[in-house]
Amino acid sequence: MKGLDGLKKLLSANKCLIAIFFIMIIVSFYFSGIVAYSVSNYNGITIVIDAGHGGRDGGSVGVNGTIEKEINLKYALTLKEKLVDSGYRVELTRRTDDGLYSETALNKKMSDMRARFNIIQKTNPNLVISIHMNSFNSPTARGAITYYRNGDEASKRCADLVQASLNTYCEAPSAQGKVGDYYILNCSYYTSILIECGFISNPEEERLLNTDSYREKFIDAVYSGILLYFGNSNNYV
Ligand SMILES: [Zn+2]
Repeated sequence: MKGLDGLKKLLSANKCLIAIFFIMIIVSFYFSGIVAYSVSNYNGITIVIDAGHGGRDGGSVGVNGTIEKEINLKYALTLKEKLVDSGYRVELTRRTDDGLYSETALNKKMSDMRARFNIIQKTNPNLVISIHMNSFNSPTARGAITYYRNGDEASKRCADLVQASLNTYCEAPSAQGKVGDYYILNCSYYTSILIECGFISNPEEERLLNTDSYREKFIDAVYSGILLYFGNSNNYV
């Protein structure tokens, strides 16, 4: 009987080992499947999304207290999600409320901008999109404006397409992209646009910009513009 008990124990121990072995095979297949999926999903286009401001630099403040850096990050994260789902590789300059400056830097703005430039250079993207909210001393100013750097044809084409899409879906008043003299547009030779999503100095637009439904509609419009831009093979460099 003792010998039989020993054999039973050995067999059940072996069953356990076999079960663990099969579980490991199933788990490894599952994870290799995920990796294979994300690789095959990649469409070959890399985009840097830059949420403007951060940390001690809050950007503009809306008439009803919206802090620009916070809403910029929300729009950037929504756009990131949309692009990643569609097979784009996306790098963010910031993912949290913090700025990118060194705490010991004397010029924190310069330190922050330099860090954004370094991320762009390291990523070697097909497109850079910087997200901001506008502010003006007249509360009636409203609408999205897409900027590009002066003289850069690819950036102009992209800005015009994104702006046209925003004009259609978000009633933005600006007919075409505009030339903008911003560090993030000028710091590299990559195709770059900066979207001022709307005026938080306008109480109605500030309210709209803060709703999930408007943010999703807005990002869908930006995405449509990007799709048109990369849909034209001349723009795919
Ligand atoms: Zn800003």
